[in-house]
Order: sequence, then C-alpha cells, then structure tokens
Amino acid sequence: MSNAVLHVSNVQKSFGGLRALTDIDLEVEQGKTHAIIGPNGAGKSTLLNVCIGRLPPDSGKVIFAGQTITGRAPYEINQLGVARVFQTPEIFPDLSLLQNVMVPAFAKRDGTFRMNALSSLEKEKELRAEAEHLLEEFGLLHLYAKQAASLSRGDKRRLELAMCLIQHPKLLLLDEPTAGMSRHDTNRTIDLLQRIKERGMTKVIIEHDMHVVFSLADRISVLAQGKIIAEGAPDEVRGNPKVQEAYLGGAH
Ligand code: ADP
Ligand code: MG
Repeated sequence: MSNAVLHVSNVQKSFGGLRALTDIDLEVEQGKTHAIIGPNGAGKSTLLNVCIGRLPPDSGKVIFAGQTITGRAPYEINQLGVARVFQTPEIFPDLSLLQNVMVPAFAKRDGTFRMNALSSLEKEKELRAEAEHLLEEFGLLHLYAKQAASLSRGDKRRLELAMCLIQHPKLLLLDEPTAGMSRHDTNRTIDLLQRIKERGMTKVIIEHDMHVVFSLADRISVLAQGKIIAEGAPDEVRGNPKVQEAYLGGAH
C-alpha cells in the first residue's frame, strides 16, 4: 500500500433521499497538507465528520494509520491521534486560555496520571510549560488568564488550534479554519499552519478561501455534489475546466 496516513475507501452517505457523498476515495499522505475544496453543500463537512466518527457512513471504510476506524466513537479516533478544528470554535468559554489548552492534554492521559500525586504534579508542570509555549507561539500568552469567552473570533480559532497541538496528533483535520476572519487574522493563521507543516504533521483542510488553499496545499481534491470531480497538485487543479465549472455553477 501507499504511504497514506488516512485512506477513505468507497464511502457513501445519504441523508434521507439526499446523497451527500458518493463513491468517495481519498488518500492523504504522511506529512502533507491535503485540501478539500468545493461549493457550499458539496459534502465537505460530511466527509470530515465521517473521518472523525461523528457520522457513520452508509458503506465504505476509513483507515487511519493502517487501522480501520469506521464505526469507532469520536473519542476513540481522537485517542488514536486524530484531532480536528470545526467550522465553529469549540472551546470552554468559562475557562481561562491556559486551562483551555491544558484540558485536552489531561483528557488524553490514562488513569495512572491521577494515581500518583507527585508525578501528577510534575506532569502538570510540564503540561503548563508546554501550554504556555503554545500560547506564546500563537500570540496569545499575554491573555493566558482571561476567560476564553472574551476572545475575538480569530483568537478563539487560534486557541482551538493550540488545544489540538498539545495533543500531538498524527493527523489534524480543519474545517474552514479561516471562516469569518479578517485578512490580517487569515494571514496569521496561514503562517501558523505553515509552521505546523514544518513539524511534519499531516493535515486535511477544508477551505473556501483560495488564497489559503494555494498557500498551504500539497494536494487538492475537489468535491461537487458529493463526488470528487478532480484531484491533483494545486496547479493541475487550478487549470481544470471541470473545477471552474463546478464553482461557477455552484451556489455560494
Ligand atoms: P459542505 O460542508 O461542503 O458545505 P455539507 O457536508 O455540510 O456540505 O452538506 C452536504 C449536503 O448534506 C448538504 O445538502 C446538506 O444540506 C446536507 N446535510 C449535511 N448534514 C446533514 C444532516 N445532518 N442532515 C441532513 N442533511 C444534511
Ligand atoms: Mg461545511
């Protein structure tokens, strides 16, 4: 088999009479950033939700790091090393920024973490240092004690990204990470995602903003009406008439 971290094989998904995904095959290679683009309603979020176990496919398989994960619960898939950022930030609004970044790391620890008070204190110190480091990298350290609810939308999305990275995922899935952001915040997010890429993390990114897609993607799959209509390197996809047609013909 190939060097794929994520392999989606022949996935179908309908909602009542609506075929949201038809015959989806996708391979995401180790260390690459794979973008999924397409008009609104194309099935992009549905595909991502199938990959993370939020939606069961009607048929087909999802294989992550060589294991079939179809039918597993989202938390199990997360424990295997898949983290995701949703279209709407999912943070703990009442907790501080520092607590927000630390919670996902605590949640990943097994029972032994709580059994030995001394070692848990040590680990807490380590985690705190790592959380602070991430907040610094993301330009949020000066706000560490603030409630997350008070952040701007762009800062909330960056916080959510830091909450993912502290889990050291093998695969990061992002659903429109720059949606609703100003150009300035979008560019900061592109920089951060580029840095994450330099760490060798594999990413799947759903994105509307073509500037973001062409800045980050190694490979692009184009989804329209639940089907993959084109796939290739950014330059190949950019010049593909089928893709232009899907965008011009698609509802926005
Ligand atoms: P995209 O993310 O590409 O905009 P979605 O995956 O959200 O598209 O949606 C694909 C299609 O499936 C749309 O027609 C949408 O209305 C429909 N859909 C998505 N989720 C559900 C659901 N939970 N129940 C019914 N229909 C849904
Ligand atoms: Mg969507």
